[in-house]
Amino acid sequence: MRTIEQADARAAVERAVQAARPLAREGAVASYIPALAGADSSLVGLALVDSDGRAFESGDSRRRFTMQSVSKPLALALAMESAGEDAVFSRVGKEPTGDPFNSIIRLETSERRKPFNPLINAGAIVVSSLLPGSGASEKGEAFRAFAGRLAGRGTLERDEEVFRSERETGARNRSIAWFLAELGLLACPVDDALEVYFRQCAALVDALDLARIGAVFALDGLEPGTGERLMAARTARVVKALMFTCGLYDESGEFGVDAGIPAKSGVGGGLMAAAPGRCGIGSYGPALDRRGNSVAGLAMARALSAELGLYAL
Ligand code: GLN
Repeated sequence: MRTIEQADARAAVERAVQAARPLAREGAVASYIPALAGADSSLVGLALVDSDGRAFESGDSRRRFTMQSVSKPLALALAMESAGEDAVFSRVGKEPTGDPFNSIIRLETSERRKPFNPLINAGAIVVSSLLPGSGASEKGEAFRAFAGRLAGRGTLERDEEVFRSERETGARNRSIAWFLAELGLLACPVDDALEVYFRQCAALVDALDLARIGAVFALDGLEPGTGERLMAARTARVVKALMFTCGLYDESGEFGVDAGIPAKSGVGGGLMAAAPGRCGIGSYGPALDRRGNSVAGLAMARALSAELGLYAL
């Protein structure tokens, strides 16, 4: 395994944040979830965690924000570990769409009759329905405990305001969920599946948490530093492959070519990336591009990949 020199990592993280700050002006914070609209678009934070568990941080790396879609690969890992791979992929595909994250169109037009992949909203709502526990609150807690464990700490907290705001306004996700119910793809009642999905999206993290989580995926399920196994190697590999092909929706191909590492974004401004065998990267920058991906996050991940030679392919 190629290790990353500490001095290189420190300098690369610092430089990436400085270079990304002016870019934040090119994006806009998400406003379709009203409680996200007030985020400060100038914030930029970055963290890198290497295979020994050493952390390198710069900027607003301890600023907390809601995971939003960064929760999707974690929920996928938890569902694979608890319900099993077959239960998940009998209901959800493994193919990229080239569509926006909240697109509903292929649920009706595709002969597949299931969401294309677990990282678009349609697939993620199916995955939420498969999480362990009997009701929405148990499933939501199982998610926050699992995500907290991957981040190397206790269960994550939830942003109640963002949760309610999305629950009150999430008409598109409700439409998707009812369509999924009609297709017989949900493993629990439709309202519960939505509730779990909104809960996991509102889980609070900072960039350092995301870097730690990314490092676990990078190490095929082992906790950096301790070497403790937190998920099966197979689970981590499947999740990374899907992050690479589908993690940034209709921007996944471009980012894959440029940065060459699996990553997942969220409209709260987070980005989590896993450089196989090398490190995890977590970033915060709530200014988004028109695909809903963090402008600063993409730029910083590209910069780190180039400077530290992180390309997986
Ligand atoms: N909770 C958000 C939604 O469903 C997550 C989307 C995202 O982060 N891309 O719209």
